[in-house]
Amino acid sequence: MTVSLTELSEADAEHLRRCIELAAEALEAGDEPFGSVLVDPSGTAVFEDRNRVSGGDRTRHPEFEIARWAVANMTPEDRARSTVYTSGEHCPMCAAAHAWVGLGPIIYATGTEQTRSWYDDWGIESGPVSPLPIRQVGPGIEVRGPVEELAAEVRGLHARMLGISDELS
Ligand SMILES: [Zn+2]
Repeated sequence: MTVSLTELSEADAEHLRRCIELAAEALEAGDEPFGSVLVDPSGTAVFEDRNRVSGGDRTRHPEFEIARWAVANMTPEDRARSTVYTSGEHCPMCAAAHAWVGLGPIIYATGTEQTRSWYDDWGIESGPVSPLPIRQVGPGIEVRGPVEELAAEVRGLHARMLGISDELS
């Protein structure tokens, strides 16, 4: 269900803004505009990454890196109490990784269904993976998003990647 920034804490909003900055950095570097931040139980951002698929490895999603980093660096108890922020809802691969490593809640700026509808508007075909929402892949994961005020900015990044002049952005 769509939430408003006012329903989130100041810290949540700040982490989501950082995710969008990372997404913009990814786009500048020739990757896809996605960025994510892992916040530990004390509220500290301990790891962040951005999409890195331009080298040809299409699994180089930031949420997948976060899952691996969390296993290598955190106890199961801390993982369960950590939050993952991300500019775009986890894809099924990353949602599965998140569930398998037992990370805590996910807060995302824009949703898979939302992004898919933009791509439909632009006449862009789906990729090889079904655009399932996190809830269908990891039903135990607590999820919040999309955040209505952040949609236009993220949509603008996707339009830029595709070389589309988007009247909404
Ligand atoms: Zn992914």
